[in-house]
Amino acid sequence: MILNDQIWRSLTGEGVRLPHALLFAGPAGVGKRELAEALAARLLCETPRGAHEPACGRCPSCVMMANGQHPDFRLVQPEADSAAEEGENQGEAEKKKASRQIRIQQIRELEDFFHVGGHRGGARVCVIDPAEAMNPIVANSLLKILEEPSPSFYFIMISHRWRNLLPTLLSRSRRVMFGPQPLEQSRRWLEEQKLAGEAKWLPFFGHAPLQLFDAVRSGRLKALEKLVNDLERPVEPLALAARWEGLVKEGAGLSIEDLVVTVQKWLHDLGMCRVGHAPRYFDRNAIAPLAQKTTLPALVRAQQQIAQLRAWANHPLNPRLFLEDLCVRAFKPLNS
Ligand SMILES: [Zn+2]
Repeated sequence: MILNDQIWRSLTGEGVRLPHALLFAGPAGVGKRELAEALAARLLCETPRGAHEPACGRCPSCVMMANGQHPDFRLVQPEADSAAEEGENQGEAEKKKASRQIRIQQIRELEDFFHVGGHRGGARVCVIDPAEAMNPIVANSLLKILEEPSPSFYFIMISHRWRNLLPTLLSRSRRVMFGPQPLEQSRRWLEEQKLAGEAKWLPFFGHAPLQLFDAVRSGRLKALEKLVNDLERPVEPLALAARWEGLVKEGAGLSIEDLVVTVQKWLHDLGMCRVGHAPRYFDRNAIAPLAQKTTLPALVRAQQQIAQLRAWANHPLNPRLFLEDLCVRAFKPLNS
């Protein structure tokens, strides 16, 4: 099955003419990249396709797509993401050096791709992921290409923060909005990935099933499970800080920023319960008794303090002290 079925149907209907440039906008992990790749495969597929049908998966073009070697397809992304997707054969030092930005050279190479005719006489497709990884100079050089309309050339830009994009980029593309996935659809999709048992985590990941999928695959979910357990049964803050430092060092991919974000979600839910609303990320049965021990002003104060801490989460001078600070502030509302 394909997530975002409604969007797929709207883009692949009978007689639908796709624009030169599409912008897939919405939160991370809801399936924008997957849909872009499925659409690219359909556009390049050499077997005639009916309305809503995905690529055939068997023709020479589909085989080349599956092997990542289609001459009429380009994926433009920051080097750091390519390195992460290619896996473990790189040292940590090299991964750190890889850029998180799309470089101007990558767009110049696109110009050649754009001006030389297609290899297989059909469509050519370029996916840019994410568009916000282009600084204004790079985005402007892409705009020059976007301004030259060319039949059978398609750009699909992906953006988790589309409001930060240049207005000119927005005005030259048709925006398609993606949102959190409906629970039933996510559940069926997880079943297909043999992850039905993890569906209870969907609220925690903001109903972005691919974020959940990545967390399972990377092993990060196991560490998050321990973290959530600690929040639901809090003990002494300094002891927790030591445990959490251990979780980060375990190397399961859990960062200090993940810890801060999880604490923020937890405080948010305590606040919701305190005013009689349903929690958004955590299990109500676990959160509600804790919420009873807090006051709203104490929760708001803790939220403000932790929002400030978050700015330092990527590079704390002393991780242990940072985590002690985080835990003390996070659990203070429980003793108010
Ligand atoms: Zn095909």
